[in-house]
Formats: sequence, structure tokens, C-alpha cells
Amino acid sequence: MDKQLKILILEDLQEDIWLVKRVLTKDGMDFLLEEVDTKEDFVSALKSFSPDIVLSDHSLPQFNSIEALKICQQYQLDLPFILVTGTVSEEFAVNSLKQGADDYVLKSNLERLPSAIKHAIKQREDEKKRKEAELKLRFQNEELLKINNELDSFVYNISHNLRAPLLSALGLVRLAKIEIKTDQYESMTLYCEKIEESVLKLDETLKEILDYSRNARSEIKYETIDFRRVIEDSLSKMKYLTNPSDTRIITDLRQTVPFATDNYRLNVIFNNLLSNALKYHDPKKHDKWIKIETDVDETKAVITISDNGIGIEKEYIPQIFDMFYRATVRSDGSGLGLYIVKEDVGKLGGNIKVTSAPRIETSFEITLPNHHSLVS
Ligand code: ADP
Repeated sequence: MDKQLKILILEDLQEDIWLVKRVLTKDGMDFLLEEVDTKEDFVSALKSFSPDIVLSDHSLPQFNSIEALKICQQYQLDLPFILVTGTVSEEFAVNSLKQGADDYVLKSNLERLPSAIKHAIKQREDEKKRKEAELKLRFQNEELLKINNELDSFVYNISHNLRAPLLSALGLVRLAKIEIKTDQYESMTLYCEKIEESVLKLDETLKEILDYSRNARSEIKYETIDFRRVIEDSLSKMKYLTNPSDTRIITDLRQTVPFATDNYRLNVIFNNLLSNALKYHDPKKHDKWIKIETDVDETKAVITISDNGIGIEKEYIPQIFDMFYRATVRSDGSGLGLYIVKEDVGKLGGNIKVTSAPRIETSFEITLPNHHSLVS
């Protein structure tokens, strides 16, 4: 024991306290002794003195060791407790141990006290370490179970998302083969378009899986960002989406200082949010718009992407960032996009908020820390 040991002794006889001090000093123990002989003083010393161990006589005028032991247990104090007492019956001693005392030492055999104290403290420490290791193991097991379940659901959902467009393309190819045999060529263009759609969808899901795994595995690389370029690149990838050209794109980029973050992840965020804003447009509207705003200062960038599309009903909002969650039958996607966005934003140390008034305005606001001081 390298630190000074704080001993709380519950004893009313001064001679006995003197004897305890003597055997401990003789043993070379470095200790501080707090003496109490009433219940009130005992309880208050547990708090104010915060002992490392309790030595307790069995019976005092208005208090006893079993009651003292129970108080320690009630307060969930993981304190070694040794009974130091005159003669007691073997039955009583065994009973005290059963109730949770660590040891008992007879006053007639006080030389045993130092080794009993050391042993009790060591045992408690070992027990504490064992419990901590057990808790850690249990926690790791729970984590593993959770990851396993997530993996199960991921494999199930992703296989479905990959198989659906594949089977659809296969069906179309078979139809086309039959019709070619009978010289019916009219529907070929339509079949080819449908097959192209399926292949694009397949490609989209595969890209999302790659984005997901890349976010989890690749290092963050800070680069200076040109928001105009990010937006242009992102929009140019959406050409195959239905009618992006009849949607007005409004940009308002407010920036006086450079902004740096991970360019790849930022692109993934823009791609997903912009493609959703286009996909979930309101077909009944003539004036469809998407507004992209950025507000950059020394510490952060606030990026807002809003649209006046169909929007998201209030009750679905809490789930939209979940893996594979789709909030509308209009979705023909995998339900992975916003999950990936949230993961990416988290990895960049930012946060994302969404507000939606269906058919009026839906807005995703992302705040990202500015790391331009890290870019040379
Ligand atoms: P996906 O688009 O593949 O279904 P996402 O994870 O990108 O999956 O989005 C989850 C759901 O959130 C979508 O199914 C859709 O219902 C809703 N959503 C996302 N963005 C918008 C938006 N801008 N407007 C309306 N609904 C949206």
C-alpha cells in the first residue's frame, strides 16, 4: 500500500483504539485514524472522512457492527469492513461474514489485524477489477450483438435493393428475346430505356454502398472548398433525373474567409441533398425551386438546401436519417442517402437539422466546423 490509509474505527473504548494504533504502527503501516462511537458520527464520517476501510467493534452502547455494515451497503460504499471484537461465538462471526463483512479479528489476537486489513483491501481491489472487466466484456458483447443485427439487416436490405433492379432488367431482356424471335421490334426502345433505368438504379445503390464504406474507413483530408464548384459538379451528376431543367436553382453564397473540410465527404452530402430536393419535387407546381445558401465565417459554414417540393410529414421526420428508411412511396431509392449524409456530417464534426412544411418548404441545414487553419 503506497498511499496513506484512511481508517474509520467504530469503537468506544480508548484502550482498544490505542492498541489498534499500536499494532498498525508496529507493522509500519502509514494510516490516518478517525474514531467514532455513535451512529450519527459514523454516518457523517463516512461522508466527510471518506475512509478506505472500516474497523468496527461489535456492540456499542447504542449501535452495533451489523447495523454499521448495513449502512455501508445502503450507501453502496464499496468499503472493506472488518469486525474487531472481543470474544464472539463462531456462529456470530460466520453470520457477519455472510452479511458482507470481509473478516473478523479478535481483540485477543490483534497481531493479525495488519494482515487482515491488507488482505481485505487487496480482495476488494481484485473484486473491483473483476467487476470492471466483466462490465466491459458485457458492454462489448452488447455492442457486438448490435453490430451483428445491423449487419444482418444491412445484408438483407441491400440484397433486396440490388436484386430488384437486376430481376427487372432480366425480365425485360427475356421479353425482348421472345419478341425478337417473332419479329416484333416496336417495344425495343421502351425495353432498352427500362433496362437503362434499372442499371442506373443498381449503380446508384452500389455507389451509396461505396460512399458508406468510404466514410467509415477513409481518413479525413482537409482541403479548401470552392462551394460554386461543389454545386456545379453535383448538379451535373443529376442530369439523368426526370426534368431537373424545369427546377430553378437559386444560390446565395456568403463567404469572406476561406473554408476547409473534407472535399469528398462534402460532395457526398451535396449529391444526396440535391438529388433528394430534385427527386421529391412537387409535380403540381409550375415554379419549382431549390435554394442553396452558404454562410461561412472563421469557425464554421452553415449550409442550407431548401426546396418547395412535396416535403416530409412531421411524424416521419425523426426516422428519415435511419438506414433504409423511406418516408414516401415516391421513393424508388434505397433509403440510404440521408443515413450516409448524417454519418458524413458526424465524421466532419458537424450537425444537421431538417424542417419541413409539406408542399411549401423543406430545408436541410448543416453546420460544419471550418478547418482552414489546418490547410497549408
Ligand atoms: P431515398 O431517397 O433513397 O428514399 P434518403 O435516405 O435519401 O432515401 O431519404 C429518406 C426519405 O426522406 C425519402 O424516402 C423521402 O421520403 C424523404 N426525403 C428526403 N429528402 C427529401 C426532400 N427534400 N423532400 C421530401 N422528402 C425528402
